Amino acid sequence: MSTPDISAELKKLVELQELDKRIFDLKQKKEEVPVLLERLQKAFEDKKANYKSLESNLQKMQLKQKEKEGDLGAKEEGIKKSQSQLGVLKTNKEYQAKLAEIESLKADKSVIEEEILRLMDEIETAKKALDEEKKVLAGEEKVYNEEKRAVEEQAKDTDASLQAEEGKRQIAAAGIDKKILQAYEHILHGRGGVALVQVSNNSCEGCHMRVPHQVINEIKMYNRLITCENCNRILYLEEGE
Ligand SMILES: [Zn+2]
Repeated sequence: MSTPDISAELKKLVELQELDKRIFDLKQKKEEVPVLLERLQKAFEDKKANYKSLESNLQKMQLKQKEKEGDLGAKEEGIKKSQSQLGVLKTNKEYQAKLAEIESLKADKSVIEEEILRLMDEIETAKKALDEEKKVLAGEEKVYNEEKRAVEEQAKDTDASLQAEEGKRQIAAAGIDKKILQAYEHILHGRGGVALVQVSNNSCEGCHMRVPHQVINEIKMYNRLITCENCNRILYLEEGE
């Protein structure tokens, strides 16, 4: 095996790094998709919960109305029963007592009637609010479905781009010396998708630390790959630097 031409290999790595940066960004974008979808769904579920709570309040009020109507019926029965007993009472005292009992039942009845009327008002208001919320929710659902579809469409585009970039990468990588490629890829996986960085104004563009003159001279010799002493990325110089 002949020793690779480091200068030529670095030029190929620059091209590869461009592709890897794009691939890294596309993969990040791809990973965000389920998070975005979940966030959209959760926001919509919260809006649905508001509707559900209005609905359950209405049901509670309707149940209470039924209870009160039951109580009203019982009072009416009691009044009828007491009135039917009036005719068979022997003494005036008993008669007066029964009349007082009927009056008391009638007073109870009118309190219950008022409560029912108040409940009916509240139920009507609650029904209107629920109808309004239903319309709002239908609008929210439409927006949610549109946003979801947009995210899914974008995810498809991202997948297609990723596939295209990975195809280009395969071709680019095939032309690089195996050992150099291995060294590059080893750094790539641990460094956020950036394994190769330029030295400009005597500093590493990966970590912004100063690169000593000694190291810059070593890069210029093109004997081997030179890495940053701080971030460990492979360093290269633009022509003319
Ligand atoms: Zn560095």
